[in-house]
Amino acid sequence: MEDKLSFEYAPAPESRAVVSIKPKYGHFIGGKFVAGTKHFPTINPATEETLSAIALGSKSDVDAAVKSARKAYVTTWSKMSGKERGKYLFRIARIMQERAREFAVLETLDNGKPIRESRDVDVPLAAAHFFYHAGWADKLEFAGLGTSTKPHGVAGQIIPWNFPLLMLAWKVAPALAAGNTVVLKPAETTSLTALLFAEVCQQAELPAGVVNIVTGDGSTGALIVNHPGIDKIAFTGSTEVGKIIARAVAPTKKSITLELGGKAANIVFEDAAIDEAVEEIVNGIFFNQGHVCCAGSRLLLQENVAEEVLSKLKTRMAKIRVGDPMDKNTDLGAINSHEQLLKIRELSAAGDLEGAERWSAPCELPGKGFWFAPTIFTGVTQSHRIAREEIFGPVLSVLTFRTPQEGIDKANNTPFGLSAGIWSEKGSKVLWASQQLRAGVIWANTFNKFDPTSPFGGYKESGWGREGGRHGLSAYLKGVSHE
Ligand code: NDP
Repeated sequence: MEDKLSFEYAPAPESRAVVSIKPKYGHFIGGKFVAGTKHFPTINPATEETLSAIALGSKSDVDAAVKSARKAYVTTWSKMSGKERGKYLFRIARIMQERAREFAVLETLDNGKPIRESRDVDVPLAAAHFFYHAGWADKLEFAGLGTSTKPHGVAGQIIPWNFPLLMLAWKVAPALAAGNTVVLKPAETTSLTALLFAEVCQQAELPAGVVNIVTGDGSTGALIVNHPGIDKIAFTGSTEVGKIIARAVAPTKKSITLELGGKAANIVFEDAAIDEAVEEIVNGIFFNQGHVCCAGSRLLLQENVAEEVLSKLKTRMAKIRVGDPMDKNTDLGAINSHEQLLKIRELSAAGDLEGAERWSAPCELPGKGFWFAPTIFTGVTQSHRIAREEIFGPVLSVLTFRTPQEGIDKANNTPFGLSAGIWSEKGSKVLWASQQLRAGVIWANTFNKFDPTSPFGGYKESGWGREGGRHGLSAYLKGVSHE
């Protein structure tokens, strides 16, 4: 039956007046903003408007940041009681909540993600990470990790562009709670919320040098990774760069955690609640434009429900609102960069070439900026590039299976192992499937749910170590007992 119930949304734009963006930024070192030498532009990917000029961190900037982090570690932070450290983390969390609207607007302008997501997901979760780890700061000996744990010292942290503030929180909060000081590099295209966070550190009167932020590109990241004054490296990004970092760190005494790519299977068994599954298939792949390492990018449908799921999925996808990220009704925003858009286009073209069938939701894409319509490919086989490689965009590859075991085998047929989803009304089947799936995070009858108490991380080429929960905390401590 044709869907006659349709209505137009009135525009609901969020105001950008709440943020003030400086024309040029430096680095945050030793509690102060210091001028950079070279700069590069950061743009709004939805409009291609230049927002500001960001400093390109050089060797001397990284040296200064590491020196400042070491000094703060030796003279202040490592001497402070956990209770006092916790107070600073609580203070940071509360200020982030107070300035939540500012953070959300800035994130949306710089990243292209819908304001609804930065406001309701990124910023609240980032504050929650600080609250959660503030609670651990004075209870480390009760975390079940041993009673003689110690911080590593100075942590070098490199983060990607898909969840700029949230990834900062995942890295900085546990590091500080455990007693480390940090040198953090945000991604080249999304530095603005990290620089606003630096202001929060000043406002919270965090001792100078505990948090240092050096902006820049991959070359700045490499300077941090290879710096002899760093004790621990924490990286989130592509598997390709993760391998370069692993090789660089291997001959050193540095401790390392890597959160890398994924190609998650979202498996729908014949007894699933189809309408609920369709809703979360959409959330699983189109949340944050599909720029999510744990995105449910491979949909595995049991053959006898495939037709019904696909028909309902297309109806639902046609209702996704694509466009201005600052509009509170927008579901799918801009692709973060021209480079990423080219990568999505290239892999989608490979899908066409290898014989899969493309269907894109009918929608009007804005003339300026970087956009890609929500898309699915059916008739995908396991050898297709779009079934094996991370597209990191709003593109879903659909495969089918006959028996539950075939579904599991196909799900595990990937070099990655970050996350997976299971859809079934039978608890026993959910438990059976989750025990066989090689993935660090498994959602049952839901998808993309995050919480600071819950460890997150992968197997195989998806990385080493966990972030969040006690497991994530342990990565920032040495002498951890694993009994
Ligand atoms: P990268 O791995 O290239 O970048 C991640 C971070 O590492 C950025 O801050 C980057 O700097 C920095 N970096 C780049 N090269 C080096 C290096 N040699 N040594 C140290 N640091 C370095 O990911 P991108 O952001 O470019 O995204 C590319 C692909 O990575 C995506 O298409 C996606 O597949 C995957 N990805 C996975 C994520 C995940 O959460 N698992 C998150 C983001 C991306 P800069 O960006 O400033 O150049």
